[in-house]
Amino acid sequence: MNNKKTIDIEFDRQHIWHPYTSMIDPLPVYPAKRTFENKIELESGEILIDGMASWWSAVHGYGHPEIITAIKNQADTMSHVMFGGLTHQPAVELCKLLIELTPAPLNRVFLADGGSVSVEVSIKMAIQYWLSKGKRNKTQIMTAKKGYHGDTFAAMSVCDPVNSMHAMYQGFLPEQVFVDAPSSKFEGTQCQEELNQLEAAFATHHENVAAFIIEPIVQNAGGMNFYHPDYLKALRKLCDKYEVLLILDEIATGFGRTGKMFACEHADISPDIMCVGKALTGGNMTLAATLATEDVALGISQGEAKVLMHGPTFMGNPLACAAAVASLTLLKRKECDANIKRVSKALEALKHCENLRAVKAVRVLGAIGVVEVDRVVDVAKIQKFFIQKGVWIRPFGKLIYIMPAYISSDKDILTLADAIYAAIAGDHF
Ligand SMILES: *Cc1c(COP(=O)(O)O)cnc(C)c1O
Repeated sequence: MNNKKTIDIEFDRQHIWHPYTSMIDPLPVYPAKRTFENKIELESGEILIDGMASWWSAVHGYGHPEIITAIKNQADTMSHVMFGGLTHQPAVELCKLLIELTPAPLNRVFLADGGSVSVEVSIKMAIQYWLSKGKRNKTQIMTAKKGYHGDTFAAMSVCDPVNSMHAMYQGFLPEQVFVDAPSSKFEGTQCQEELNQLEAAFATHHENVAAFIIEPIVQNAGGMNFYHPDYLKALRKLCDKYEVLLILDEIATGFGRTGKMFACEHADISPDIMCVGKALTGGNMTLAATLATEDVALGISQGEAKVLMHGPTFMGNPLACAAAVASLTLLKRKECDANIKRVSKALEALKHCENLRAVKAVRVLGAIGVVEVDRVVDVAKIQKFFIQKGVWIRPFGKLIYIMPAYISSDKDILTLADAIYAAIAGDHF
């Protein structure tokens, strides 16, 4: 074990890219030594309460003994084997669980190595489906502005055009059809005019559109907007009426985060294709999946290619599948649901921030808490302050948000909320 060796932070600074990072003037990174429960221990010895669950993924906290045991046992038998021509117990067990947990008509599963890949696969499925039906013009994807679906090119093409700098890639990025971001608030009333405009866009573009893709209920990286379930209900109807497939990207919202197992349950609808990822392995390793209905799956297989044209090297990696089986088994327990409700209640502590002048809005849904401030946050500055307060929170843009592990104690959530309050009140951003 080289736990005692200190991390070469200078090498990191000079040679390693971090997410969205400059090689000339990188933001500081903190050396992490160990994670456990809902805590991150830094090399310097500080133990931080984690508000981020490593980007929505570590829902059961770090190093959950049941997941770690599953990974260890799997590593002892078979950490990987190719999925072409072979199958294995962890993959079969996982896909059974996924079909059981997701809305009923989804019953065909494609295992992908990460969220962006699962989005690529969903788009490929939609295009191949319509090709099979002889509809060669349906090659575009429709989506709402302010969305986020990943960083590979097809996924990027359906992200918000401004946030993901589409102009920079002009001529390379496929051109998609954008409608306005859903604007009616989750707890408000659905604006009818917005739905009329949505229908007008379907009427204009449907002949060229294979699918509509959207993050249900919460547009996360695009602004942490919680929108009205009626928008999704209308979308489902319009997709059926205009022969457009509905792809729901549940990569961030899935597995209990919004207070339902999947966010689409708030609207009582189901998609033709669904992407899941992030929390799938409980944040232990990368794995995602694209689920489809029988109609979509059979449609694709009746087409010219006969097969879905995708098959990554590490498809169905047994270690990741074993972790996911353990994670989903935990998620199915009543305690997990009770924890999500408890965390949601504890997050209401963020509402105190509404008294602060710099705060524009506070929103809580399920185990997600968001404080929107009046200016872009200085990440380096606020993070330094948060670390002094013993918490790990990483804001983006004007959003200071937390989505803690479901096992986080009320006391820890209060500490997170207090740190956010203090950062804003003391102008540490
Ligand atoms: C994170 C995310 C993705 C991309 O997943 P990666 O695993 O980072 O490739 C796609 N869609 C949504 C909604 C996400 O939150």
